[in-house]
Amino acid sequence: AKERGKGRHAVYDARLEQDQAADAQLGAELRQALDNGDFTLVYQPIVSLPDGKWTSLETLVRWQHPERGFVGPDVFIPIAERTGLIVPLGDWILRTALRQAAEWQDVFGSGAPAEIGVNVSARQLREPGFAADVRAALADSGFDPEKLVVEVTETAVFDGGVALDTLQNLVTLGVKVALDDFGTGHSSLGLLRTCPADTLKVDKSFVDGIGGRSEEAVIATAMIQITNGLHLQAIAEGVETAEQAETLYRLGYRFAQGYHFSRPLTPAQVGERLEAARVL
Ligand code: C2E
Ligand code: CA
Ligand code: CA
Ligand code: CA
Repeated sequence: AKERGKGRHAVYDARLEQDQAADAQLGAELRQALDNGDFTLVYQPIVSLPDGKWTSLETLVRWQHPERGFVGPDVFIPIAERTGLIVPLGDWILRTALRQAAEWQDVFGSGAPAEIGVNVSARQLREPGFAADVRAALADSGFDPEKLVVEVTETAVFDGGVALDTLQNLVTLGVKVALDDFGTGHSSLGLLRTCPADTLKVDKSFVDGIGGRSEEAVIATAMIQITNGLHLQAIAEGVETAEQAETLYRLGYRFAQGYHFSRPLTPAQVGERLEAARVL
């Protein structure tokens, strides 16, 4: 039995080592990419319902790999987290997004979306001095802290007290906190008592099945009741059809995001849209 166990283990170890090698390879390439300037940011609007007006832009990172082409964040963010590169990468993302948002504010004034959202990973939240880094980035950009929304997942916050302390420090700066992918973590409801969140981003998986009398529709309804009762804001994520948008509005949702309204846009595309809206 011992032999068999060992054999199984060897197979598992081999696979693990292979993954670790692949991780290490990609990790090194990520570091190189940051130095080379191969990351770019795109921005996806969050809109108010039912008028579809932009209220906020969520910052999403992209990696243009010299040989592999486009590599999505679902692939490289977890590796950046494991290797620790998310800390300098996240700092670059935050600073670039704040600089960009400050520029749109300068050019378009009240025509620019009120807020900018930036995703922050668990690893960043646990990094000592993260709140101080955010404060420094805000000061350097001249961007109003109250217009920055930090998006964190339930799982990242559930990790423990350090993350909560950091969020509290951010709130003290005036920064807003959104709980991302809400409903997919383990700790959803209890967390609402301790986490200083302003906004819940209701995960796409609930929006997908929202038609009719599905369980998802029941959950989406309960979530809007909870957010209203706790005086939080709810944003429905991943809205792909007009029908979903209408159903969400009927259920009480006033903010949404998804391909139905807009795909993530390059900075130039955002500028064009804001310019067009200004001329109207
Ligand atoms: P997320 O924060 O939940 O971001 C939303 C993701 O859903 C984005 O994918 C967005 O393009 C996609 N999406 C938006 N609307 C729709 C829709 O209607 N239908 C579908 N099918 N998808 C939609 P993206 O940009 O590939 O990002 C994936 C994940 O990678 C993000 O999920 C986030 O967890 C992570 N990520 C992206 N950018 C960053 C970043 O700058 N920092 C960190 N730490 N994580 C990031
Ligand atoms: Ca997000
Ligand atoms: Ca999300
Ligand atoms: Ca997600």
